[in-house]
Amino acid sequence: MTVTLPDTIATPAYVLDEAALKRNLATAARIKRETGCKILLATKAFAFPAAFPLMRETLDGTTASGEYEARLGFEEFGKEVHVYSPAYTEAEIESLVGLAQHIYFNSPEQIRRYLPIVRSKRGIKIGLRINPGYSNATLGGPLYDPCAPYSRFGATRDTLDDVPWDEVEILHTHALCEARDVGSVGLITHVAQNFAPYIHKVKAVNFGGGHFINKPGYNVDKLIAAINDFRAQFGVEVVLEPGAGLVVDTGYLISSVLDLHHNEKDIAILDASASTHMPDVLEVPYTPSVVGAAEPGVLAHSYILGGKTCMTGDIIGEYSFAQPLRPGDRIVFTDMMQYSFVKNNTFNGVPLPSMVVLREDGSHHVVQSFGYQDFRRRLG
Ligand SMILES: *Cc1c(COP(=O)(O)O)cnc(C)c1O
Repeated sequence: MTVTLPDTIATPAYVLDEAALKRNLATAARIKRETGCKILLATKAFAFPAAFPLMRETLDGTTASGEYEARLGFEEFGKEVHVYSPAYTEAEIESLVGLAQHIYFNSPEQIRRYLPIVRSKRGIKIGLRINPGYSNATLGGPLYDPCAPYSRFGATRDTLDDVPWDEVEILHTHALCEARDVGSVGLITHVAQNFAPYIHKVKAVNFGGGHFINKPGYNVDKLIAAINDFRAQFGVEVVLEPGAGLVVDTGYLISSVLDLHHNEKDIAILDASASTHMPDVLEVPYTPSVVGAAEPGVLAHSYILGGKTCMTGDIIGEYSFAQPLRPGDRIVFTDMMQYSFVKNNTFNGVPLPSMVVLREDGSHHVVQSFGYQDFRRRLG
């Protein structure tokens, strides 16, 4: 993979590549055009207001995991705001009725409890998340499978006759994670086969996120055919709300080598860290790709790349490079837009990477940089 990033960007920095984001949005535009479905951005994966003007041209709105993301969608994205949470507080619902037009509940009980507040405001559509009992998680096993045993997500099949269906307009299922077309089509088919009586009670079905539509190897034609079949069978509107699938491979985390160390193996210490800047590396876990690097032992010089925190496990991975690394060298991690900065933290007082947009003409714009106050404020 080749990438030209300006040397003048101070590290560490998350860099959104606008040209790559446009390519991904074109996939979403095509799915919308050929199926008539709606596509929302799940801000959980990528809450980056600087990218919203571009995304707003294609997408129908945002979906939130709670009040603050809903407010972000309402204030910064515009268009439709959808929200789902496994459980709402009363205060949250009171605020959400002013921000979201689509509120999804996790159970018939939550609908009943909050119905008076929701109906105090006109025009809000109520959704119910069901647990479809469909497992096809590509990533991370049970940790990322919303239908894993004892999952807290979604009303189970045996509670569905208890639902106040007259109040419910949208059936919601979120069951996938980094799924290829097999998973997307499998979920749609499974819901059609197993939940038809309930689909007939609603106006729309939201098939959640986890559709990895821009990952090489994802057959978008098959998703389009499945949505069209589903719409033809039930006559309902279809909504998708991907996060990762919209921003996969659209940006980088650029870091610098601070120093080199040796303890049986060569070790490079970076100004980026797995613990603080890319927690998914430890949580999933996985080894991110580095521009110009290969697996250890493939190229002449192998290194363990580690962060500058004092946590022993703050190891990003083991790589090899054609040339020996030196302090000041830049290390560019790819595919660092999804679930990266939204999860970062200031553990150890490590500085947060700045947020940068790389424009199509090669120029860049530092949207935000962070300092001591961002660490201090959260300590009370
Ligand atoms: C996480 C989540 C999404 C987005 O998932 P991606 O894997 O990023 O596409 C969408 N809807 C719900 C309800 C979610 O929890």
